[in-house]
Amino acid sequence: MPWKTLMERFSSSALFTFLAVAGLFHAPAWADTSVLVTVDVESYTNGDPSLQVLGAVPDSSEPLGVPFMARRFAELGIRGTFYVNVYERAKYGDTVLRRAIRDILAYGHEIGLHTHPQPTFGPGGLSRHPLAIQKQILAWGRDLLSDWSGMPILIHRAGGYMANLDTLQALQALGFVADASLAPSVPSPLSKQIPAPYNDVAEIEEIVELPVTYYAQIRLGPYESLRLVDIESSSAEEILAVLAAFARRNGCAVNIMMHSFSLTRYGKADRRPATKLARIAQFVHENESLQFRGTREFLDGWRRGAIQCTPARDFVPTTGLWLTYLRAWERFGDGWKNAAMALSPAGAVSFALLILLLRRRKNLDSPVARARP
Ligand SMILES: [Zn+2]
Repeated sequence: MPWKTLMERFSSSALFTFLAVAGLFHAPAWADTSVLVTVDVESYTNGDPSLQVLGAVPDSSEPLGVPFMARRFAELGIRGTFYVNVYERAKYGDTVLRRAIRDILAYGHEIGLHTHPQPTFGPGGLSRHPLAIQKQILAWGRDLLSDWSGMPILIHRAGGYMANLDTLQALQALGFVADASLAPSVPSPLSKQIPAPYNDVAEIEEIVELPVTYYAQIRLGPYESLRLVDIESSSAEEILAVLAAFARRNGCAVNIMMHSFSLTRYGKADRRPATKLARIAQFVHENESLQFRGTREFLDGWRRGAIQCTPARDFVPTTGLWLTYLRAWERFGDGWKNAAMALSPAGAVSFALLILLLRRRKNLDSPVARARP
């Protein structure tokens, strides 16, 4: 597998040009763990973009999608990276996506390309296409997003994590610098192709890979239950535990996952992710070993060798049964699995009491018991 550290590729022309444009060559060195907050901007297959991209829900006076996130991130001292699925333009036109991009840039956040190519290029996730078609898809999306944003588009995340090594080759050929499609905790094509389940920054096929961070919620012998660091499906306590663990290891980056519909997933306002984000922001700001960074700033520091971190590529923190149980209560109404997990101790106690009761009744009914005075 031809991968090497980015420092060895100091002369990478795409990265060099990108950082020259960014004008960040003289930023100071740092010795902390970078926290990247990343948002996929998209609607469901048959979804309403006003709801799932902009977050216009009837029970909230303000939209809770991208406009809210862009403003709230800025208030919390977070520079977010928003990966925009421009391919769904074919479903509903330009207006909603361009409005989202305007808000993202107005608050100083970053734009990357998100590829669910189906509405424009037909069925199949990105990795289902051969290399040549992947190049076409990526170039089309890059050019449109660059036109809409007025920015160079150099970072990418595949929809559904449907990237493979061809994707990274295509990105490299097109001048992209970084990719965030690697999600080792889900069975994605790329995670099956690479030799190790990286959980921290690496260079693969000459692209800086920024994996979506994952953790083991439970470990029992060889069994482990893995989970993405996602603002919706993880609790604040779990995310704080992962951040603390990476900071202790002096890991390079934690990549937190969100969606434009994270606060409106069920068609109504859900402010729990915003509350979690505020707790995470407070934790990061109070911990000198952690620092929010935009992807550009991180890549600049990485390239200059200014980050005195140690990539924790094979490090998978464990959050444990107790935090898993607490999260099940927190998300009690979000599906039967959470409810079953939350109620499982009560069920176990009830079952044990029932067994004891039956045993006692059996003993009382036995001839010996009946013979007692
Ligand atoms: Zn997506």
